[in-house]
Amino acid sequence: MILHGQSIDGIQAIIDQVAQVCQSSERMHPIRVVNCSGILIHTNLGRSPLSESVWDAVKEANCRYTNLEFNLSTGKRGNRADISSDLLHHMTGSEDAIVVNNNAAALFLLLAAVAKGKRVLVSRGELVQIGGGFRIHEIMQQSGAELVEVGTTNITTVSDYVNALDENTAMVLKVHRSNFSIHGFTNEASVDELAKAIGRRAILAVDQGSGAHDNSVPGEISTRTLFKQGADIITFSGDKLIGSVQIGCICGKTKIVKQLAKHPLYRVLRPGKTVLSIFEHTLIDRLNTIPSVPGSFFKRSMNELREMGNSIISITGNEQLALVESPMAFGGGSDPEGEYPSVAIKIDSLHNPHQILKMLRDRPIPIIAIIIDSKVHLHLAAVFDDEITIIASAIRDVLKDLACI
Ligand SMILES: *Cc1c(COP(=O)(O)O)cnc(C)c1O
Repeated sequence: MILHGQSIDGIQAIIDQVAQVCQSSERMHPIRVVNCSGILIHTNLGRSPLSESVWDAVKEANCRYTNLEFNLSTGKRGNRADISSDLLHHMTGSEDAIVVNNNAAALFLLLAAVAKGKRVLVSRGELVQIGGGFRIHEIMQQSGAELVEVGTTNITTVSDYVNALDENTAMVLKVHRSNFSIHGFTNEASVDELAKAIGRRAILAVDQGSGAHDNSVPGEISTRTLFKQGADIITFSGDKLIGSVQIGCICGKTKIVKQLAKHPLYRVLRPGKTVLSIFEHTLIDRLNTIPSVPGSFFKRSMNELREMGNSIISITGNEQLALVESPMAFGGGSDPEGEYPSVAIKIDSLHNPHQILKMLRDRPIPIIAIIIDSKVHLHLAAVFDDEITIIASAIRDVLKDLACI
């Protein structure tokens, strides 16, 4: 300020200013927040939290040297991808697998390695955009594959694909509609039907997105089912329903996976030891049927959630709070239509709801709430048990501050 020619009223003003800058820069890097959005896998809030047991399990392998690329039985160079490939085989039924930095990278590598200069058929109803900037046609363009659109926005039939097949077609790509759905007069060709109709004339690939690997999420088709239906290769994220780190999996036919592993882009896109170790430990948990964090939240009963809400309200002791039913969703491109019963705390205040949201965000541990019908709601679907007191004291302080305004 002084450099900019402004005057300062005394030393305290300078100290206050410096403190404010330090405080806000402290909040620039990822810090913990409380997710009261009602969305279990919120991309803006880092998608899935890791299980603490996984975090603890990987500490030693990360803070010391590790056998990342060293085969302990032969004493020779090993392969960093072997363990995750084996675990993914058990989880999905795939022949082989390889992992890269995220699902966008997975699809990019797949297209670049097996479809560069060749045609890839995609339904016009599946030319999606996921989140900020993942657009199928742009990924395709960058990879050097030629996008061939088949069918229409609402109707795509098996014969639309079959009629477009020629000797220069490398792949038929199905893309999960992760964040929207189409209603009314619609048809899409299933993986089942496509596998039968295409045979060996092209690779049948599925960008499945969510990583659903069992039938616990109603709106998702699991990777195992897709393989049974005849998919050759499937890509998905590690930080959605699997509940692990950001990673992209490419599972399927060994011949294709080997081709990807040899491609120079794999070297560019492969994850590091920290990500791999966390991912592998998460997969072991999932294979042992230990649920992910979002998975365990999904399993909570309405009674458990009500109990949680009542304890927050009783600690706060404020009449402006009410426990209301409010649906939760998976989010993160999983089960886009699914809404499930859940519970929220409604703040019945006459103050500007946006101001209340901001005050909750300004807490030492920021709380991310939502507005429904002009009232602030703190949704409990994605709240950890140990966050009850954090939320209660935040609400109490915020309402006290508002009473003074
Ligand atoms: C989420 C999603 C992606 C993007 O995955 P990232 O891991 O964020 O790169 C791509 N395709 C589908 C269908 C998705 O659901």
